[in-house]
Amino acid sequence: MKLEIQPVETLKPRIEDETQLVFGKQFTDRMFVMEYQAGQGWHSARIQPYQPFVLDPAAMVLHYAQEIFEGLKAFRRPDGQIALFRPMDNMRRFNRSAARMCMPEVDASFLLEATKELIRLDSDWVPRAEGTSLYIRPTMVASEPMLGVRPAEQYLCYVIVCPVGAYYKGGLAPIKIWISDHYVRAAHGGTGEVKTGGNYAASLFAAREAADQGYDQVLWLDAKEKKYVEEVGSMNICFIYDGQLITSPLGGTILDGITRRSVLTLAREMGLEIHERALSLDEIFDGAESGRLSEAFGVGTAVVVSPIGQFTYRDRTAKIGDGQTTGVLTQKLYDTLTGIQYGRLPDPHGWVEML
Ligand SMILES: *Cc1c(COP(=O)(O)O)cnc(C)c1O
Repeated sequence: MKLEIQPVETLKPRIEDETQLVFGKQFTDRMFVMEYQAGQGWHSARIQPYQPFVLDPAAMVLHYAQEIFEGLKAFRRPDGQIALFRPMDNMRRFNRSAARMCMPEVDASFLLEATKELIRLDSDWVPRAEGTSLYIRPTMVASEPMLGVRPAEQYLCYVIVCPVGAYYKGGLAPIKIWISDHYVRAAHGGTGEVKTGGNYAASLFAAREAADQGYDQVLWLDAKEKKYVEEVGSMNICFIYDGQLITSPLGGTILDGITRRSVLTLAREMGLEIHERALSLDEIFDGAESGRLSEAFGVGTAVVVSPIGQFTYRDRTAKIGDGQTTGVLTQKLYDTLTGIQYGRLPDPHGWVEML
């Protein structure tokens, strides 16, 4: 497919102070768009000025939430070059999500090349300050105007990008987790492993309850027994238990995170034993008390690694260490992963792709 590059008439003002960037609020001058029509396939691929869509009020995504997305980052290196981290993994996951939601797959290499071209054209939007990056959001929505419930025959696929500030200013800071014993994120057979907006819409109520009580994120338990750990907010979760790394297995109810995958590889190279199994609530509380559970952290593209200081379930609280200090292995994994992303460390796995 040909990629049309449309001119941009007026450029937006650049962001002066990169320490003031708010996540997901300021977008660049351009966006990538292509359209799908059943029988015709994908067409009209273009990079155009960033602008609103005209969508029919009956567009199926607005009623039945047929939607998927991805999230990845581009990093500005000390030499000025721009690097992407495992971008093809995101494009492949986008297609897996599409298949589960009865949406058309895309040519993953084409979408990656188009994304790279978009970033090249908007490259002076990639921030330079320590810890900043460009967040990339590929999205697909059902655009066909139709109120019947069935897979749509028309779709929009687009990519928007936004400069994001350093998540941590002044070192990693442990967060407080509220364990939901009532709400669940995903059950077996549902869409837990799909990056689709509906999962997020369903999670808002519990997240607000947690926030109202002073917690940063919700830890989701399995839907059946409400006893085993699944994931936390929009991150996968890892524990250091008896010096081994434990993380929930991919069983259809959690997202197959690219950060999770990367952290498991790095941890194995650091000599840690890895167990992909679901930790139970009892293990969290007993382990925190005995000290066998020495570290806990969330992993995901937005934060990379987020140390957890405490878990609260009903009226019980488990502190990890003193609840304030980032664990040694948590810090080491964060430093190693960000080191590879920003080019401070070698990239033996070929995870980094230069623009
Ligand atoms: C995106 C996401 C993650 C993290 O995946 P990464 O590929 O590491 O960014 C974890 N859980 C959920 C629910 C997600 O949507």
